[in-house]
Amino acid sequence: MSTSSATMLENTLVNLRRSIELGRFPDTLYKVLSKPERAVIASIPVRMDDGRIEVFEAYRVQHCSVLGPYKGGVRFHPNVTLEDDIALATIMTLKNSLANLPYGGGKGAVRVDQRSLSRRELEELSRGYVRAFYPVLGELLDIPGPDAGTDPQVMAWMVDECCKMSCRPSPASFTGKPVELGGDPVRLYATGFGCAVVTKLAAEEFLGSSKNSTLAIQGFGNVGSWHAYWASKMGFKVIAISDIGGTIFDPNGIDVEKALQIARESGTVRNYPAEQHFNDTKMALFVEADVVAADALENQITRENAQKVKAKLVIEGANAPVTPEAEKILTERGVTVIPDILANAGGVITSYFEWAQNIQRWSWGEEETRSRLTRFMEYNFNRVKERWKTLKLERGNVTLRDAALVTALERIYAAMKLRGWL
Ligand code: NAD
Repeated sequence: MSTSSATMLENTLVNLRRSIELGRFPDTLYKVLSKPERAVIASIPVRMDDGRIEVFEAYRVQHCSVLGPYKGGVRFHPNVTLEDDIALATIMTLKNSLANLPYGGGKGAVRVDQRSLSRRELEELSRGYVRAFYPVLGELLDIPGPDAGTDPQVMAWMVDECCKMSCRPSPASFTGKPVELGGDPVRLYATGFGCAVVTKLAAEEFLGSSKNSTLAIQGFGNVGSWHAYWASKMGFKVIAISDIGGTIFDPNGIDVEKALQIARESGTVRNYPAEQHFNDTKMALFVEADVVAADALENQITRENAQKVKAKLVIEGANAPVTPEAEKILTERGVTVIPDILANAGGVITSYFEWAQNIQRWSWGEEETRSRLTRFMEYNFNRVKERWKTLKLERGNVTLRDAALVTALERIYAAMKLRGWL
């Protein structure tokens, strides 16, 4: 099998099998976790502004519930497939377990280029998603949140549709909502903030220091823009950013707040007045920088381009941006990869905080949530680091991904045995 052209699901299963072998778990664990518990496909009709009916394909995948209700975002993207959604739901099971959350893994998606929809069409589609999957959603069953292509406004329409259908308020049935509807003020920037906390810890651990380290980021959406913002506040110099419009590069440092404003107004960071501009949307991954962050989408660092990575540290802000073959090449070259289930868990951790506050009808406030999130990220980072050290003694050559996955699987396996599933 050529991993370069392998799908995200194939790559996810390669990583899963490797960690099950490394952790000496029984093969039945692979059998159970390599398939989702339930995958639902729906067709959502939307009346477009010109009167036509357009029908959108949508999914909700419920991967594993041994640790609690399914939890995972909803992605709106033109190329997403059911197979991708299964991969993303599998990653959520592992991420939620690693973060010690009382959740299983789920994920949803709609095949749509949401940028081509009017606001009314987007609202119709968001509400249609809830109507289509209502029987399998709920605050104690499956709790969606935002992912690529969806935002707090989409969550607001979704939670409103859910409340209308159930005839009762149910703020805890969706997370990532606007603050006025019970959203947590940190959730909007939580994934990028968590990435920044981990970037700092990883730079201190693997590069000796984080102060004035240079950082290049691919992806300037929810994850990448807040990662850049918080990392620059923590002392990193952001020197390159790529998004769908191209790459900006400035060795003197990019003014992240200005770049954010330009990207919001014009749709791409490309319009920032940097020293150099490139058409290449992956260029940030290959510039001379201490740290690079892959915060855009899956399968970005592959067997073909892994040799071009010059940084010593790669942060996976996106889900599955580094393929298993690429990681092997990077590891042999002495490059450390901080895996997605550790690096980008800040979003789902804060979604858990939002859910817990909604159930209690309580609000902690921004400072309190942010300091709790920092503690969770630090604890997780240190736990994976310690497990990596012990695993290295036991099994030789292992990566931080191996350590993170084995740690996540230990909890899942224990729960499955206790519940009599295995
Ligand atoms: P988003 O839609 O807000 O932003 C995506 C960014 O990537 C945009 O800047 C876009 O221009 C850029 N991009 C898209 N295609 C590109 C390409 N081919 N080359 C370069 N840049 C490209 O999405 P997001 O919410 O920031 O999510 C990004 C990734 O992070 C996804 O893998 C998602 O699953 C993962 N993730 C998101 C969250 C969250 O809370 N939003 C949480 C955990 C993980």
